[in-house]
Amino acid sequence: MSLPRIVILGAGLGGTIAAYEIRDATKGRAEVTVVSDSEDYWFVPSNPWVAVRWRQADAIRVHLPPVMRRKGIGFTSVGCARVHPTENRLDLADGSSLTYDYLVIATGPDLAFDEVSGLGPDGHTVSVCRTDHATHAADLFDAFCQDPRPIVVGAAQGASCFGPAYEFALILDTELRRRKIRDAVPMTFVTPEPYIGHLGLDGVGDTKGLLESEMRNRHIKWVTNARITAVEAGMMHVEELDEDAKVKKAHDLPFGYSMILPAFRGIKAVHGIEGLTNPRGFILADKHQRNPNFRNVYSLGVCVAIPPIGPTPVPVGVPKTGFMIESMVTAVAHNLAAQIKGREPNEIPSWNAVCLADFGDGGVAFVAQPQLPPRNVNWSSQGKWVHMAKVGFEKYFLRKVRTGTSEPLYEKLALQMLGINKLKQTQKGEA
Ligand SMILES: Cc1cc2nc3c(=O)[nH]c(=O)nc-3n(C[C@H](O)[C@H](O)[C@H](O)COP(=O)(O)OP(=O)(O)OC[C@H]3O[C@@H](n4cnc5c(N)ncnc54)[C@H](O)[C@@H]3O)c2cc1C
Repeated sequence: MSLPRIVILGAGLGGTIAAYEIRDATKGRAEVTVVSDSEDYWFVPSNPWVAVRWRQADAIRVHLPPVMRRKGIGFTSVGCARVHPTENRLDLADGSSLTYDYLVIATGPDLAFDEVSGLGPDGHTVSVCRTDHATHAADLFDAFCQDPRPIVVGAAQGASCFGPAYEFALILDTELRRRKIRDAVPMTFVTPEPYIGHLGLDGVGDTKGLLESEMRNRHIKWVTNARITAVEAGMMHVEELDEDAKVKKAHDLPFGYSMILPAFRGIKAVHGIEGLTNPRGFILADKHQRNPNFRNVYSLGVCVAIPPIGPTPVPVGVPKTGFMIESMVTAVAHNLAAQIKGREPNEIPSWNAVCLADFGDGGVAFVAQPQLPPRNVNWSSQGKWVHMAKVGFEKYFLRKVRTGTSEPLYEKLALQMLGINKLKQTQKGEA
């Protein structure tokens, strides 16, 4: 009798570790196949470093076919053109078709640059969302440093991933100081968040105070409640809204270099499938990460539909970060293993958030358990150790992807960070 086939769609941060964990959880009871659109895995959290040449792109790449082969996981990089959940089938990009018994969707975001005229690498701003974008951003940054002018960094309306925007603004500040041209570069941070440090999470610990203070210390101005209306060569047009979502002020921000994170939406291969996705193309999932209508379809990572934390004058999404994604991966692996054995899924992911925002010479870290307030752990901190922690984490995560192990890393990181906090408090005599 042939084994049930589990197909994992997407081999980014979530899909890759999901393949390893699902393989281990269902060994001997299911055939596991990954469908990606690239043979390589790229460690996305290091993209901001690539954009200022603190990392070579190749250093954060893992070539997946040999790892998958070693693990006994089928792999194709041909890409998926369309999911057909009513037929348990994928159309692949080469015109062939692949059937599945269980599907795990981990396709990350489609980057909605087209929602703002002139936004993105095909327009007038750079991006760090993909490693090839970050490489392009590094080339433009080198050219910019020959002719320093104002910089605008931030996120567009509807964005959900704010950590990398702050990180990149502060990394640029550090790098410009190292190149001794910071004095020639006025910097502005533009964000739809209602306040600095909101992060799509209504803040974590004192991220408002910590990030405002960092930006003040580094002479970075900001516009919050910002809606970018258009970007032209060298000029960004921004409307700042008041609490009633009415235009309070219009800003024309000149720039010689700009990185703006776009809003995310679901990829085309799943967009508009009744019962599978919401209107933005994100995959609907119940508390077990299983689609409520197609009971053999799970999803994890950025592609999952999560409602915003609450109304804001400019739309702001909830970030889906590594810790949360790792908890989704573990839940999906357990639940799939249960379903294959004929049991009902019972594992619920924690959806906690842990984040390291590195500025090169310091950084801000936070742990939110659970991700949405009110929380049991609502902690943020700052210091040079954040940079060291991020360097260490990158090394461990890449090793995990290269070796195909399924040990959870983000949980360890969170515990270590809270441990550092306890140690600091003890040193100060507070605990
Ligand atoms: C610049 C940046 C920095 C970040 N930094 C951090 C951080 O420091 N800490 C943190 O916790 N989180 C961070 N995040 C958030 C999050 O952890 C990452 O976005 C993470 O990569 C999301 O994982 P994912 O698997 O959902 O999506 P992705 O990693 O984007 O993976 C999706 C995969 O699906 C593939 N795919 C897409 N379409 C198809 C198709 N049609 N067929 C087959 N495959 C397809 C893609 O090629 C990709 O490999 C960051 C995000 C960004 C953008």
